[in-house]
Amino acid sequence: MSQHGLLIVISGPSGVGKGTVCQALLRKKADLVFSVSKTTRQPRPGEKDGVNYFFVTPEEFQKSIAEGDFLEYACVYDHYYGTPRRAVERMLAAGRDVILEIDTQGALQVMQTYPQGVFIFLLPPSGAELRSRIIKRGTETEETLKKRLAAAKSEIELAYKYQYVIVNDHVETACERICAIIEAEKMRVLRNKALINALVEEVKA
Ligand code: 5GP
Repeated sequence: MSQHGLLIVISGPSGVGKGTVCQALLRKKADLVFSVSKTTRQPRPGEKDGVNYFFVTPEEFQKSIAEGDFLEYACVYDHYYGTPRRAVERMLAAGRDVILEIDTQGALQVMQTYPQGVFIFLLPPSGAELRSRIIKRGTETEETLKKRLAAAKSEIELAYKYQYVIVNDHVETACERICAIIEAEKMRVLRNKALINALVEEVKA
């Protein structure tokens, strides 16, 4: 089968549960690796540097941009986030399947530079459910809630640019659907040319 790992991009609107789904997915599929992003935002309680994110200063982030260190980067709700390019390339070359949990701006950039990636968009079961999930996080004021919902509407329209949509109704079911996509993607003819060619040679000999 394909020697090069898969780059799996998971995005979706704020509050859809990307983080929860990705964590459950990593627990379920031990062979997946999570790409740890750099961010300029402050760590939340319990978050660890180098595990959840690499927490950097705005100056360090700008330096990484200038040095071309990011596969993609974006400003999301006043903070910068970026995917370290070299770490991802190294893991893919080693045959590891890599998960990027990133916003839609970043995913659109990766579609341009790495179109062989697998692009998955998580949808909420309904608008009301999305609203209640954002409220439950307890981090929003009435005003920022409105902002997030308006942004969510524009982001959901971007789902057309992805290859797959998954409704995140139950975390476990969403994970199973992602696993099914990963398995199917690995069997694509385009990803298995070397295998087919080797067999053609072997059968011919
Ligand atoms: P949070 O601050 O809640 O961890 O993340 C805020 C948003 O930034 C989420 O939508 C998350 O998916 C996104 N994000 C996290 N890392 C990256 C990254 O490296 N690049 C981009 N473009 N978005 C990211």
